[in-house]
Amino acid sequence: MKLFGGIEAGGTKFVCLVGNGPDQLVEEKRIPTTTPDETIARVVEFFEPYANRGELVAVGIASFGPVDLNQSSKTYGFITTTPKSGWEQVDLCGRIKHGLKVPVAFDTDVNAAAFGEQYWTQENQALDPFLYMTVGTGIGVGVIVNGLPLHGLMHTEAGHFAIPHNLQRDPFPGVCPYHGDCLEGLASGPSMNKRWGQNAETLPDTHPAWDLEAEYIALALVNLIYAYSPMRIVLGGGVPEHPGLHLVVRRKVQQLINGYVHSPMVLEKIDSYILPPTLGNRSGVLGAIAMAISEHKISL
Ligand code: ZN
Repeated sequence: MKLFGGIEAGGTKFVCLVGNGPDQLVEEKRIPTTTPDETIARVVEFFEPYANRGELVAVGIASFGPVDLNQSSKTYGFITTTPKSGWEQVDLCGRIKHGLKVPVAFDTDVNAAAFGEQYWTQENQALDPFLYMTVGTGIGVGVIVNGLPLHGLMHTEAGHFAIPHNLQRDPFPGVCPYHGDCLEGLASGPSMNKRWGQNAETLPDTHPAWDLEAEYIALALVNLIYAYSPMRIVLGGGVPEHPGLHLVVRRKVQQLINGYVHSPMVLEKIDSYILPPTLGNRSGVLGAIAMAISEHKISL
């Protein structure tokens, strides 16, 4: 049996999965993120029996970042300037590849999630450009163009969009260590916790936090619609799971665009344009499996 490995490398845990897709999962393991040496060793240990039996044909890694995705760079596959202590300049891709001796595909967690949402959902396969945005501990955006995650200078960093910040309505200075009140600084889970003095999950539905949050997400989505003209937007992560938030975001996107983007998807069908992830909270790791399958096809 041929099997693929998916790794979603996060700041608090590494989710490792063996299987062939959402309906054919063989084994899953969550490994806490400690030091690079210990964490990577445990990841390799998990996949090793499959690799030793010759079943594991390729692995995909969906990594927290920033990461180096330039294949001609000496530090390709590295986590680069992360604020996560001990993880700066770690050759994540190379060490997994060396440990398992199989082809390894490597990308950001959000690019992988975008890829997975498109790859594993039949309806999404024809929708290109395709966009995935996550709002949780951080904010990230993955963009698929012509079936592949968009790379370039590094990778898209739309989580750090500069967005209008009305200081009278929201005097909170933001939490981004680089920019203060960028999108992530104003609208990530930690920014909500700090602004309101409680966890976002415990804020009641009627709390003004939710209208402000929807406004910031909508401002970001409007910019993304202008920049990439996506055929579909998937809005995932912990924060948009709040009941009703998707609906408010959609209405605000329509209001902000104000008729300028003359597409029925925005004007009339926005409820089937901006959607929650079909893979739930597994978009990243299943995206990594999809990347592994594509990598294997290339290596044949
Ligand atoms: Zn920022």
